[in-house]
Order: sequence, then structure tokens, then C-alpha cells
Amino acid sequence: MQNKIKRRTFLRSTASAGVGALLTGKLSRQDAVAASVGKPVVIASANGLEATARAMELLQQGKDALDAVIAGVSLVEADPKDNSVGYGGLPNEEGVVELDASVMHGPTGRGGCVAALRNILHPSQVARRVMERTDHVLLVGEGALRFARAHGFKEQELLTEESRAAWLKWKENLSPQDDWLPPHDRDSKGIGKVWEAFRRHYGTINCNALDAQGNLSGCTTTSGLAFKIPGRVGDSPILGAGLYVDNDVGAAGSTGRGEANLLACSSVLVVEFMRQGKSPEEACLLACRRIVNQTKMKRLLDDDGRPNFDVRFYALNKRGEFGSASIWSGGRFAVNTGEAQSRLVDSAYLFKRAEK
Ligand code: ASP
Repeated sequence: MQNKIKRRTFLRSTASAGVGALLTGKLSRQDAVAASVGKPVVIASANGLEATARAMELLQQGKDALDAVIAGVSLVEADPKDNSVGYGGLPNEEGVVELDASVMHGPTGRGGCVAALRNILHPSQVARRVMERTDHVLLVGEGALRFARAHGFKEQELLTEESRAAWLKWKENLSPQDDWLPPHDRDSKGIGKVWEAFRRHYGTINCNALDAQGNLSGCTTTSGLAFKIPGRVGDSPILGAGLYVDNDVGAAGSTGRGEANLLACSSVLVVEFMRQGKSPEEACLLACRRIVNQTKMKRLLDDDGRPNFDVRFYALNKRGEFGSASIWSGGRFAVNTGEAQSRLVDSAYLFKRAEK
């Protein structure tokens, strides 16, 4: 009965989000939800196909959800081809890779985070160490690096030839695509070129899992906004913004314009909406709506008053139901409910992107 009510709510929410976003591949989201209840489930941003498959292997061995998601995202952190996470991530405006990561462990109610960490391949693993081996939650910059060194993490160059070349190209063609703003007010338009900036940096992996014991955990890890001002910290390492887990309710995380999400603290919102009975997808849509309502500066709005950037949420509840939504159409997320290969499912959305 409970499940039926949920599924009806789910259908209502997807109808309002645009039916065009519903189906991908062999399985609709509602079938996927029904299939997953009571079993381990792992979801991630769209760059998490391998990560979710690896995490599922561990979940099926009965491993803790946090072990599973960290093992999964570590593959992406080590992948030089993903230029938004870890090794090969696009650097800051001085050509230095700075990483942000957070983990949250549902059953013990703990979390750990690192921000602006340089030279360490696996910031997610350092974040876990912060959680387990300090009385703190967040370490940044030089302090985070020293802590990682103390725990035996090896330093290495994280810039690949490809990411260095991308940075050099940006540097050589600089302005107007950096993140410094001249004085401006609420009505100033055409400042900052957020949409172009958004295209240049989109990335990050968020991964959330429900294990066979019914416990939830999550992780978000990123090299953040490409060519950012050194020291810039996005939403990914901030609990409540880029990641939030409540073991009684659900787990949620985000990718996209971190600045918007930092101002709305939306991952904790998604979890709170799920606590109030919303489906994961509805909860994600409501968080997107909150960001839209909160965006008032003209430079961040298009001619129709809609944000000229995107933010996407991924959510998984205690019953193994999952969903994702973004402000703009075209998003997908990775799901694994026990298969050898993960699949991509379309995210719901608020606004349909214009066809090019
Ligand atoms: N949310 C990340 C940040 O703002 C970037 C991204 O997901 O694209 O650092």
C-alpha cells in the first residue's frame, strides 16, 4: 500500500516535470524504483557508470555503503579522462588543481570534508580520514594537505598534459571568461558570462548508496569550477549543500553551479523534503525550484527570468527509491540496482532547453 501511494506520487511529479524526460533505455524510472526496494541501490551523476558498477559489487558482498561509494568514486578520481574530478581535473586560474570532497556515513551520523586540497589523488579518502581520525568535519588548503601527508597519502602532480593545455588555452584567451566581477548591481546584465563559464567547467561526481543492511551513505568529489580563483570552494565539500545523508530518511547530492547551491543549501533541503513524504524526484525538483526563486541578480538570469546556469540533484531514500532533477532539461544520472552494468536514466527538469 505504502509503495502504491509512493508510486502514484512519483507519477504525479514526473507528469509535472515533463513526460519527455521520462523514459530511457529498457527501464522507466518507476519500474526501476519498484525493482529496487529492499535491495542495495547505488546512484550517481552521469559520469558515475563505472563508479556505480564498482560500488554495487561491494554492496553485493555486504560491504558498508560508504566503503562502496568511496571505492566507486576513487575510479573517477584516478581517471585522467574525467576533467572534472581528481587526476586530470581542470585547474584553478593559476594552473593548479584544487580538489573538494565530502563523505557522509548514515549509520554513525558522521561526515568529513576537504576543500582546496592540492596534490592528492583521492580527496574522498582524505575526507573519510577527516571523519574517522579527527574531531573536525572540514579541513581546507594547506591544513588539509598536511593532514593527508600525516596519514601517508602521497603527493603527486594532478595536472595532465590535456588539462594543462586546456588551461593554457583559457589563459591565452582569458577575459571575459574569468570569475572576477567589476562593481555591479542587481540589474546589471552581461557580466560574468555564467552560462559560458558553466559549459567550461561542468563536472563532479556525487554517489549515494543504500547497502544490504539498509544503511545510507554518500560522497561528492570534484576539481570544482575550472579556472576558478585560487581558494574558491564550491558546494561539493559542504555538508548540506553538495551532500547530505540522514540514515532515517535518505541521501542527496548535487552537481552544477556550486555558488547557487551554497546559497540554498539544497542537499539538506532534498532530504528534508523526503522526510516530509516527497518522492526523491519531487524533492529534487523542489530544491531546483528553491534555487530558481532565490536567483535575483539579472546577470544570472536569461531574458525570460530563468537562471542562466544549471544545478542537478540526485536522491535516494531509505526504501531504495531514487530520483534526480535539474533546472534545465538534458540531464541524466547513473543507477545500479544489482546489475553487472549500470544504466543512465533521464533526470526530471523544470525548464526545457532550447533545441540548437
Ligand atoms: N558543483 C561543483 C562546484 O561548484 C561543480 C560541478 O558540479 O560542476 O564546484
